[in-house]
Amino acid sequence: MLKFSKAITLEDTTEGIRPFLNSGSVSKIVITTHHKPDADALGSSLALYHYLNKLGKQVNVVTPTDYPVNLHWMPGNDTVINFEESPKEAENLVNEADIVFCLDFNDLKRINDLGLIVGKAEAKKIMIDHHRDPSGFDDYRFWTIETSSTCELIHDFIVSNDGEELIDADIASCIYAGIVADTGSFRFSSTSSHTHKIAASLIDLGVDSAKVHALLHDNFSLSRYRLMGYVLYKKLHIFPELKTALVYLSQDELLKFNIQTGDTEGFVNYGLGIKGIVFSALIIDRSVMVKMSFRSQGSFPCNEFANKHFNGGGHLNAAGGASKEPLEEVVKKFKEVLPTYKNQLLSSYEEV
Ligand code: 5GP
Ligand code: MN
Repeated sequence: MLKFSKAITLEDTTEGIRPFLNSGSVSKIVITTHHKPDADALGSSLALYHYLNKLGKQVNVVTPTDYPVNLHWMPGNDTVINFEESPKEAENLVNEADIVFCLDFNDLKRINDLGLIVGKAEAKKIMIDHHRDPSGFDDYRFWTIETSSTCELIHDFIVSNDGEELIDADIASCIYAGIVADTGSFRFSSTSSHTHKIAASLIDLGVDSAKVHALLHDNFSLSRYRLMGYVLYKKLHIFPELKTALVYLSQDELLKFNIQTGDTEGFVNYGLGIKGIVFSALIIDRSVMVKMSFRSQGSFPCNEFANKHFNGGGHLNAAGGASKEPLEEVVKKFKEVLPTYKNQLLSSYEEV
């Protein structure tokens, strides 16, 4: 049995997990991560995959959905099983697993219908994550919000179990990519000196830093840039008295620009680049649901806003939500609730 309990510290976790992984009772492991994985989600999953492979485990990464093509370069990408494409295979793997690692999410709602299967599975669920307010589905956790990324946690997890020796250039590149993405290239306030020290050690372990940045950021489709132009010119709505920027996009607009998974990644940040704006929202009709992204500067709590009105959550300065209502209704609701936050928006503006 694992030695640590629910409310464990990072130290307790790593002391308990290594003997458990070493024990003969753990051979089959599934790693999963959130809906539409980003670089932190996929990077942490593949880094852990390579590490556990080295320990001789039978490991599979199962994602709930597809993910952006600019992540397909990650070593191990060709082994990933997409639940939407291979539901039966994914279900069998989860049902046969001794452990399901749940990375970069803390609520089974974030993995869609795969969550029903993981929830019922006999496997021990180990959550490694950095988001607020875990729902409590996990058996064990390696969790803190005081970190830049899940990749940073995976780094610390491997190092405290085995030291740096097991981190090769493939593992290092996956971890580095996730850290770069979740820190906005080392600029967000979640970036600590520890984050920089890890980045430095990963470069020493063989990461080609410039190459990873280019693979992540200079690897997009032309359609993304066409849509970006349209969004900035025609679709960026500013509410100056509320220090807020809003972009919303319909299904027709996405079809017109032939938008693929990942093509709108980062669009929510453009609003924040405008002087005087402290809150930015991106609302997209993804046909099965309307998806929202929120970003803020200062103390304006995106996660509370997302949770209270849009069934979502996340971090203070970066959160999201979803709705089954039509796009027009979601936008209407956003415009109705926004003014009730006027004081908080203005005080954030004073802070930054
Ligand atoms: P993004 O805007 O990049 O999709 O998501 C930013 C952050 O918001 C994610 O890291 C995640 O923490 C959170 N988030 C996004 N969408 C949802 C959602 O539907 N539910 C919850 N609970 N969190 C979300
Ligand atoms: Mn993350």
